[in-house]
Amino acid sequence: MIRLHALALVPLVLLACADPAVVEPAETPLPSIVDVIDAARLRGAESSGDDWLSHGRTYTEQRHSPLDRIHEGNVGELGLAWVYETRTTRGLEATPLVHDGVMYATGSWSVVFALDARTGVELWRHDPRVSGAAGANACCDVVNRGVALYDGRVYVGALDGRLIALDAKTGTPVWETWTVDPSKPYTITGAPRVVKGKVIIGNGGAELGVRGYVSAYDAATGALAWRFYTVPGDPTLPFEHDELEMAAHTWSGEWWTLGGGGTVWDSLAYDPELDLLYVGTGNGAPWVQSIRSPGGGDNLFLSSILALRPDTGELVWHYQTTPGESWDYTATQHMILADLEIDGRERKVLLQAPKNGFFYVLDRATGELLSAEKYAHVTWATRIDLATGRPVEARGARYAATPKALYPGPIGAHNWHPMSFNPATGLVYLPVQDMGFSFATDPDWQLRPGLTNTGIDPLEGTMSMLSGPVTGSLLAWDPVAQREVWRNGHVRPWNGGTLSTAGNLVFQGTGNATFAAYRATDGERLFEAPTGTGVVAPPMTYAIDGEQYVALLAGWGGGFALASGDPPSETLATGNRGRVLVFRLGGTLRLDVPEPTLAAVVPMDAPIDPQLAERGSALYHRYCGACHGPAAVGGGTIPDLRRSAPETLEALAPILLEGVFSARGMPNFGAWLTDADISALHAYLLEQRARLVADAER
Ligand code: CA
Repeated sequence: MIRLHALALVPLVLLACADPAVVEPAETPLPSIVDVIDAARLRGAESSGDDWLSHGRTYTEQRHSPLDRIHEGNVGELGLAWVYETRTTRGLEATPLVHDGVMYATGSWSVVFALDARTGVELWRHDPRVSGAAGANACCDVVNRGVALYDGRVYVGALDGRLIALDAKTGTPVWETWTVDPSKPYTITGAPRVVKGKVIIGNGGAELGVRGYVSAYDAATGALAWRFYTVPGDPTLPFEHDELEMAAHTWSGEWWTLGGGGTVWDSLAYDPELDLLYVGTGNGAPWVQSIRSPGGGDNLFLSSILALRPDTGELVWHYQTTPGESWDYTATQHMILADLEIDGRERKVLLQAPKNGFFYVLDRATGELLSAEKYAHVTWATRIDLATGRPVEARGARYAATPKALYPGPIGAHNWHPMSFNPATGLVYLPVQDMGFSFATDPDWQLRPGLTNTGIDPLEGTMSMLSGPVTGSLLAWDPVAQREVWRNGHVRPWNGGTLSTAGNLVFQGTGNATFAAYRATDGERLFEAPTGTGVVAPPMTYAIDGEQYVALLAGWGGGFALASGDPPSETLATGNRGRVLVFRLGGTLRLDVPEPTLAAVVPMDAPIDPQLAERGSALYHRYCGACHGPAAVGGGTIPDLRRSAPETLEALAPILLEGVFSARGMPNFGAWLTDADISALHAYLLEQRARLVADAER
């Protein structure tokens, strides 16, 4: 066992460059926005690779750039051009957008920043001042995946559920509107898209028990244009729109009292020719179907791909990947629109690799399922029946009465991290992870408003997640032949999204604090650089005056980072210092990454009652483990409770029962925990601390 040394607060020096965080604001006038982004410009975003105007670069969401100045022959000469300090320590998941020499990106807590895309100098920064209490509603970190640009404005969904329009030149708010009932535990982490003058935005919160929907707002005024609910409400009341009457026949019990789920927390795409907006929907709330809809049923529109009219929100077709969803198998994963020749016919298809482990190819005009094959280790179903479009489930996969270990686990074989598609190679590049999970119904389940309400036995689930083999890789997948073409294994399971370029390259950051480029055709690694902390965000690329840049946000985080408690050592060393890293050919800036060092834990000389600690373990995994990691090991972005200062451990009662840290995103558990529970949790944390001390001395 490596002994952990005292934390040396090594000054982090960016050689040859002052810390951009302390650079004075630019004295040169802000670039003037003459090139207005209108609906036609967004439709034509295919043509030029210089700007990156929309979340997935274009409405197809292919994340493939036609830029080829950086290519397989010279990518080894890439170096850092500039670095921007985001002044954040939580997860960074945004795709920066670039328009007219300005980069627009977001950090943790929905902070928006505009940077000179050539130098990284900050032009403006807008903090929407999300209440720390909203952090307790975020199942999967206080992340944000980026902005939308349209008509001189920047649109961002704030974590607390507001949609905000900012002036693109100054960052000054133009309008803001609540897209959710703020008394309910909704969050927004996804990037808006602008389609035909409307800002499209969904939300998250299914783990806490909300009802999902997607909304469209007038980009100019912020007025609500339409809203499509993904699960029906109380059927004794009038339905909000016609489609819900059909959907209500696929539910039973009183699901509306539990929320139902189906949240639209990430993936959107648009086909201007077909005039269809594609929407990916999330898992059920609670996860356990026997709790949520005791009579079974498909539970529409959970885990589905919806094709809506963007003018009205009217449903044209839907395809449900996981009927009667029970495993957190969302279909919110990235959707790519491509034109592929299948069986001798040119087909307009939609590609998705949702959490459930099957790679789906749908006809995007009709929703017809063309093919679906396993892209990862999958045991919950044997295959997808192409005649019915439905999975053939494995025996016992509906674990209601008996616990069942299955692949994939709730983290999914592929999570939110975007894929990319290269039309020249015909391959999709996706970050996958293989990790199982023991699904068991919580014997003590009750609705706990404001807290996690999955219905899953928390101890069984948390502890099983990392017990089997856990691997992550970059997979190149042929969507026509439905087969793997190449795969590069990674050190850690949780890695960044991907970028494809016409230079025959695929770029990806990793959970091991590196950024790499691979040859798109065979996966050979051609370039690698340190990132200072773990990466989960996808890279993007842009060009100014013929110079091509590749940009990436580095900041460890997201659901797995919180729930696994296994941060890369660089993240521990830097305190998860968030940065925008921008590379170009011949860039000479060096990122100084300190030696990973950690303070020794101060032993606490207190007697530990093993029985009390065991009760504390059960409480810990019900209330704390989803964020602070299994067995209190911490995640590198929020505190490792084994390392708490002794005075913090002695203050558990005010922290947990009075919510004294709620401004930092720490929930108040006063409604659920008693003084006796605090004693048990205290004993458990002391026990885990003593284990850590003993391990360090071994
Ligand atoms: Ca979920």
